[in-house]
Amino acid sequence: MTIDPRNELFGAFSSRIDDLEAPFIHAPDGTVITYEGMLHRSAQYANALQSLGVTPGDRVASQVDKSIDALFVYLGCLRVGGVFLPLNTGYTEREVSYFIGDAEPKVVVCIPEREAMMADIAKSCQVSHVETLADGVGSLVEKANAASVEFDDVPRAEDDLAGILYTSGTTGRSKGAMVTHRNLLSNAQALAEVWRFADSDVLLHALPIFHTHGLFVATNTILLTGGSMIFLPKFDIDSVLAALPRATTMMGVPTFYTRLLASEKFTRESVAHMRLFISGSAPLSATTHREFEERTGYAILERYGMTETNMITSNPYDGARRAGTVGFPLPGINVRIADPETGALKPTGEVGVIELSGPNVFKGYWRMPEKTASEFREDGFFVTGDLGLIDEQGYVKIVGREKDLIISGGFNVYPAEVEGAIDQIVGVAECAVIGVPHPDFGEGVTAVVVRSAAGDDPSADDIQGQLTLNLAKYKVPKEVFFVDDLPRNKMGKVQKNELRDRYGETFKKT
Ligand code: AMP
Repeated sequence: MTIDPRNELFGAFSSRIDDLEAPFIHAPDGTVITYEGMLHRSAQYANALQSLGVTPGDRVASQVDKSIDALFVYLGCLRVGGVFLPLNTGYTEREVSYFIGDAEPKVVVCIPEREAMMADIAKSCQVSHVETLADGVGSLVEKANAASVEFDDVPRAEDDLAGILYTSGTTGRSKGAMVTHRNLLSNAQALAEVWRFADSDVLLHALPIFHTHGLFVATNTILLTGGSMIFLPKFDIDSVLAALPRATTMMGVPTFYTRLLASEKFTRESVAHMRLFISGSAPLSATTHREFEERTGYAILERYGMTETNMITSNPYDGARRAGTVGFPLPGINVRIADPETGALKPTGEVGVIELSGPNVFKGYWRMPEKTASEFREDGFFVTGDLGLIDEQGYVKIVGREKDLIISGGFNVYPAEVEGAIDQIVGVAECAVIGVPHPDFGEGVTAVVVRSAAGDDPSADDIQGQLTLNLAKYKVPKEVFFVDDLPRNKMGKVQKNELRDRYGETFKKT
């Protein structure tokens, strides 16, 4: 086996392995995959991808359910020098065809049920191979099974791309965030250090792996420190409670923690052995933070990041983990607060847009140089679009989102996209989509619709039903209200704050 340290990210993972027999993955069925198994299986996928013609820089798109093999496709892709492009399993045909058309992957990996659909999409794009990730003749799994467990890693420099992750666009088109080997490696190193990860750690992994949180934050940190993961297909409260006694750490979105608190089986005793609970991807409410500490004795450690930048700040391991804040910048990262319009720096305690620079900041949006340029200041700082402040003690606090992004169950929903889809429905004159507090999802997507005078009066069910055909389920409004007019300011802008106030109690627990 030739492990080439010149493959920046995978080289760092493999060169730190000192015990090939150490566990890497604990599967739900009780099987354990060791670090040697990780090297072998990822080599098999690297060989399989290489046999399909993947060369350095080629994209490999993957829209599959979470599984251990799905993770090995990612690692195989890194080893062969490819650029991994994970796609949310909830994306519809229309959404997927945009991503594939835009990214032009050489290989698309999918579930058998989507093979025909992907083959259709592939015809009009530059895709060479559509491969299924399932047992069976002709599948990628079969190719991997037949491949050698030896692979000479392809060198990749720190500035080379390791992945492209699509973030939903605020104005129409989604953007592919290009992340490099250095972005991922530097971030995993910073997180391992501040969160004190070691080879004795067992991470409870119930996050999806098509998003930066479950794919990079969790997996890369574990691989870099030689720990292991209990790899659950999804967050299912019974499986999580059953797995907790074997874990030392957990990473989750706030919804995980509210669900745990809703279970009577989640007690102080059940987590007495744990080392750390981490939350991110959406705001953790101060109530959840407090209730969690009261129930378990642990203060959840909240951190902040985004696809474009990887992780940016974290509450401290030692020292106060302050509810409602996202802590301090990670090592090597500079965070500042600026006026969103002028870029002038704001003094301590004043709200402005959060900006940052560091080795974690992405290379730009795929094939969108102008969009990329517009999100960076002249001195190289990236403008996040999140509004926040830095307090006297240096804690960063997020107060809102400039672009009205909705985060429901940890997933980002951009109102503009849902509004565009509702506007297409016959009988709709106009609409506004907002997020309002939801006890389970953090925010619940809510639509406020004005019907057209001469329309055929679509009902809430009609609208939700039609949206389901084109939008991932998490984007479809959970409630639809009808009004005669939308509140607008003098400039004609819809006053979303007013709507949020009006419908703020929609999902309140009774
Ligand atoms: P994504 O690119 O999907 O990771 O979403 C990034 C966005 O999620 C950020 O720009 C923030 O608006 C939000 N976000 C992530 N972590 C937190 C957090 N701890 N608190 C509040 N918002 C967060």
